[in-house]
Amino acid sequence: MNPKDTSKPHQDSNSTFYDGGCLGVRVLDAGHRYQLGSLDGEYPQTLQFVKRCDMEKPWRFPGNTNSYAGATLQMVIRVLLDRIDYLQQQIWCPENWLITKLLQLTIWLLEIRAARRHKRSYWHGLRYAAESPLCKTCGHTTCEHAEIINHCEQSQPHTVLTRIAV
Ligand SMILES: [Zn+2]
Repeated sequence: MNPKDTSKPHQDSNSTFYDGGCLGVRVLDAGHRYQLGSLDGEYPQTLQFVKRCDMEKPWRFPGNTNSYAGATLQMVIRVLLDRIDYLQQQIWCPENWLITKLLQLTIWLLEIRAARRHKRSYWHGLRYAAESPLCKTCGHTTCEHAEIINHCEQSQPHTVLTRIAV
């Protein structure tokens, strides 16, 4: 494809970003860093997930050769939950209710997965998984770092998702 031809979506092996006025998502670092198109704007935004690396135990994060800080899937899905709640307040739709349940279910499955991998049980429900404080060490709602969660619950019980008025 002619690189100056912007009439068709531009895709390469490392990108799903659409050029030529179409919105899209560009993969900057597979699985970790993305550039998002901006609706009603011209400047893209970056979404970065945490990237961990353990060179002494490479099986912990297979393929990762560097690391940087970032969000987790659970955090981003909590943002999506807040947005769909906002939209539901604007115009109620049955689809929004279903989307909320599916997003909560997604977070719950992520917590179940983490618990299974660490040989723990997870007996909490959807809302607990989606609304409880996240551990500062591992990013989960239950873990072996329980004292950190307890500290968080005591000191900041309502800061799991903080809304700032603008
Ligand atoms: Zn933890």
